Amino acid sequence: MKTVSVKTGRPYEILIEHGILDNAGEYIRPLTKAIRAVIISDTNVSPIYSDRVKNSLEKSGFETSVFVFEAGESSKRLSTIEKMYTHLFENNITRTDIIIALGGGVTGDMAGFAAATYLRGIDFVQIPTSLLAQVDSSVGGKTAVDLPTGKNLVGAFWQPILVLIDSDTLNTLPEKFFKDGLGEVVKYGCIRSKSLFERLENENAKDFIDDIIYECVSIKRDVVERDERDTGERAILNFGHTLGHALEKLNDYTNLTHGEAVSAGSAIITRISESHGLTAIGTAQRIENLLEKYDLPTNSEFPLSDIINATRGDKKSTGKSIKFVFLKEIGECFVQKIDTADFGEFFGV
Ligand code: MG
Repeated sequence: MKTVSVKTGRPYEILIEHGILDNAGEYIRPLTKAIRAVIISDTNVSPIYSDRVKNSLEKSGFETSVFVFEAGESSKRLSTIEKMYTHLFENNITRTDIIIALGGGVTGDMAGFAAATYLRGIDFVQIPTSLLAQVDSSVGGKTAVDLPTGKNLVGAFWQPILVLIDSDTLNTLPEKFFKDGLGEVVKYGCIRSKSLFERLENENAKDFIDDIIYECVSIKRDVVERDERDTGERAILNFGHTLGHALEKLNDYTNLTHGEAVSAGSAIITRISESHGLTAIGTAQRIENLLEKYDLPTNSEFPLSDIINATRGDKKSTGKSIKFVFLKEIGECFVQKIDTADFGEFFGV
């Protein structure tokens, strides 16, 4: 088993082990006085994995129920949260009871938000089952739902009490969603780990997936520990994301996954920063080659002017400027503000 300790305001551990799903109860039991546990999962994941987690929790003495919602980003809204609250109430969940998020990024974000807000906050555990959630979204304590006007606009910082990662669950993950996660994996290599980037170049990601998860989670842990509330260093995790979010918006949040959008965003922004001499020559080409190796996009059919225009509503925007993350070279990045007034000149649009 690999362990990563996260020393945020409320410290917690991330345990990475094959088959850990069947021992969930055993690892959760010492951390809580909860009598009841509610597993929150979606219609894709629940039929495959809920019973294993439920059995394990019951073996450890938890009274357990399961709340299942329709899989997909379109469920990530307040109306689904309200149904969760109703389930929590009807199952007599008290402030000392516990929520278990079992699934991908949408499940973790929503179950975390319900945990952060129900009765002003109850404990929750993340059991991420998608690559994106395992390498990225299950760590760091950001929880959220979407509004009709944009993604993740309502949320809270709420750290889990434990994260259990079982990479065996990736065996049932559709290829498109494996690639979705790889987009974020490549990002971690770009911003902080030349060695990870090189391994992705030289080997097949699936052959060393446990090392990948451990490395990405460790990088995120380091960043989040220093900037739990996203006021500084955490911005570097947004490499490729400003243009990526714009691409997701232009695609109406369908067709293109988050990881695919981030991939295209990473390649586009690096071509631009390289043209301005901010990034070592050849970096963009190397990123493109790696993304192509894993069948991830390096560009968009939308003209750059449309993409830049769509960044204006970004959460990272102050109105007058947007913080962009650029690479110095593979494995090293920096944040730079660009005034929206200078967009035309900088992006050549
Ligand atoms: Mg992301």
